[in-house]
Amino acid sequence: MQQLNSLINEARQLTRPHEEEAKRVMQVCNACRYCEGFCAVFPAMTRRLSFSDADIHYLANLCHNCGACLHACQYAPPHEFAITVPQTLAKVRLETWQRYAWPARFGALYRHAGVTSALALTLSLSLFLLLAVALRGGLWHPPLAGDFYQIFPHNLLAILFGGVFGFGLLALIVGVIRFWRGVSGGTPRPPAALEAARHALTLTYLDGGHGEGCNDEDDRYTLRRRRFHHFTFYGFMLCFAATVVATGYHYLLGQPAPYPLLSLPVILGTLGGIGLIIGPAGLLWLNLRRAPLHGDEQQKPLDRAFCLLLLLTSITGLALLAGRDGPLMGALLAVHLGVVMALFLTLPYGKFAHGFYRCAALLKDAIEKRRGK
Ligand code: SF4
Ligand code: SF4
Repeated sequence: MQQLNSLINEARQLTRPHEEEAKRVMQVCNACRYCEGFCAVFPAMTRRLSFSDADIHYLANLCHNCGACLHACQYAPPHEFAITVPQTLAKVRLETWQRYAWPARFGALYRHAGVTSALALTLSLSLFLLLAVALRGGLWHPPLAGDFYQIFPHNLLAILFGGVFGFGLLALIVGVIRFWRGVSGGTPRPPAALEAARHALTLTYLDGGHGEGCNDEDDRYTLRRRRFHHFTFYGFMLCFAATVVATGYHYLLGQPAPYPLLSLPVILGTLGGIGLIIGPAGLLWLNLRRAPLHGDEQQKPLDRAFCLLLLLTSITGLALLAGRDGPLMGALLAVHLGVVMALFLTLPYGKFAHGFYRCAALLKDAIEKRRGK
């Protein structure tokens, strides 16, 4: 019986090599503890004497992949211990998103994000260009004073985008609830929730633990990644706010689009669009330069596809704003909507998920800290 159990354990370890490697790495770190002040991962690690799969899933999502502990580590390659915390936890992170994904069979999409993003973009662009031709008879038309709804009816857009975005949000929320149960998150109370929100909104753990920032391609600390993340996140939120305000104007005030350049939805959307150019372009640039041991080479398409889709969304959105009074508005609108649809289709099974899982891990950390060891 004992032999059978050990065979089963060995088989399990072979099927979860990244989790097993993460446990080995955490055991070494727990003995060393040199990096305790860098981020929330190391204090959370010291609250444990051994590591279950759930612990590893939680710690992997708590890691912000700043790279600091790799450059500080005396046991990193070429040392025989070969400790690479950022890379090991990055690999486990992808496994957790797959494991807790809803619907479960869609979890495999995380591994093919480059292909699915390209496919979604091709199909969505084709769909909206064909729809524009079918509804207007062509992509060239007399100026329509920025009235999008003369190309695509409002209700059609509301159903298409509301449905796809709603499903994406639902899939992410269900996935994170499954993760929360899997890692025994605990009961959130307001002080813990406020602390987690503060860390998420300020990206505390991208400051390297000393305020000087992350490592990118080498030992130097910079705040570039934190700043580009902020441009991306707040740019996205401003664009989202622009959509919410425009929806309020439409349904509550009876004022359908187009809105003047100095109206609230256009100002919010323009500022958000600028943020979504600076942030994703910067993150893409940093991604191309990062030290290979910081992350998982196989996840590069996942990271880059998301940055590219965000970048294309903002560029096409601002191009549409610039050309909305001209005869090419239909073509510009179709291209922008195609890109946004591709972004929405890939949201729940792409890099966007990391924000949801990391917030859950930060919340668990804030709860745990209040509980003590
Ligand atoms: S990453 Fe290296 S230096 Fe840091 S705690 Fe782990 S073993 Fe120690
Ligand atoms: S990479 Fe950064 S955030 Fe992740 S464990 Fe190391 S120090 Fe912490």
